[in-house]
Amino acid sequence: MKTLTIGKILNDYQDYLTDYEIEDLRKVQRSTTDFSTQVRDLKLALFREEWDFMGDSMADSKDRSRGINPMSQTYTDRVNKKREAFGVGKIGDPGFENYCDLFCEEVVRQTKNYKELLELKRRKEKQIVFVDMDGVLVNFQSGIDRISEEESVKYAGNLDEVPGIFSLMEPNEGAIEGYKWLCKNFDTYILSTAPWENPSAWQDKLHWVKKYLPELAYKRLTLSHNKNLLNGDFLIDDRTANGAGKFVGKHIHFKEEGKGFEDWKAVVAYMKNLA
Ligand SMILES: [Mg+2]
Repeated sequence: MKTLTIGKILNDYQDYLTDYEIEDLRKVQRSTTDFSTQVRDLKLALFREEWDFMGDSMADSKDRSRGINPMSQTYTDRVNKKREAFGVGKIGDPGFENYCDLFCEEVVRQTKNYKELLELKRRKEKQIVFVDMDGVLVNFQSGIDRISEEESVKYAGNLDEVPGIFSLMEPNEGAIEGYKWLCKNFDTYILSTAPWENPSAWQDKLHWVKKYLPELAYKRLTLSHNKNLLNGDFLIDDRTANGAGKFVGKHIHFKEEGKGFEDWKAVVAYMKNLA
């Protein structure tokens, strides 16, 4: 994943930009507006071609609806070269608008000059991070490996409902060290879901936290099937289920291929830029 700040774009990517794009980018760099305003302004500064359709004539508009780009080839080539350099899709590629949104969000986050973060720093407070348990802090497989054969047959397909299974699980590699590092640099909490049909899991999860993170996670455990209702800046979670995919801050999709967060080392390396 490219971790670019506006400063880095201005230093290293000027060859791909026009004078007016550079000028607009500098304006965004100087602004201290809120996160979403900066994302929108950055998108306008860097990827104005996404609004080209607004200047279309009737004929242009007809061409565009047939999948023909009415802009000149020189212009289209220049724009696509720039988009390629930033790793966002070419104009007209499926989902190209979403790539730009995600790219701009990431740049604003890395630039760390938006209102919400500046206010936190002024109050000497930290950004909020939620960390999931199963698959992130906890090695789920280590619990499965320890249940009896009888239980694995009885609960086949629903192994998370085996009574006591969560008390048998070990931490994932690097998870405890990673959580400790997060606690020093962020306001860190645990946010997990326990199976509805396995009441002992709710208790076992508390025991697990008390055993492995007794002080750092003291009274910082939330069990919820609606993770999107929690307010925070980051959620480190290996799934999108139970509201994780709709979390308001940045979802750090742990172990998901292509997302750049394959293990705890990668997560800490990413978070270091943002602390
Ligand atoms: Mg999980």
